Amino acid sequence: MSAQNTEGTEASNGNRLRCNNCGSEAIVTKAGGSSLNCCGAPLEVTFGR
Ligand SMILES: [Zn+2]
Repeated sequence: MSAQNTEGTEASNGNRLRCNNCGSEAIVTKAGGSSLNCCGAPLEVTFGR
């Protein structure tokens, strides 16, 4: 439901990722690269600021 082109595990450079399990956050620094994982699950892209 987002206008951003970041569906699935794909993320754009600068997007923020968050782990729903432990709450850790990470910033995407390499768009199109391997998806980041935490707690055995891919991090979810967030659009909060
Ligand atoms: Zn985690």
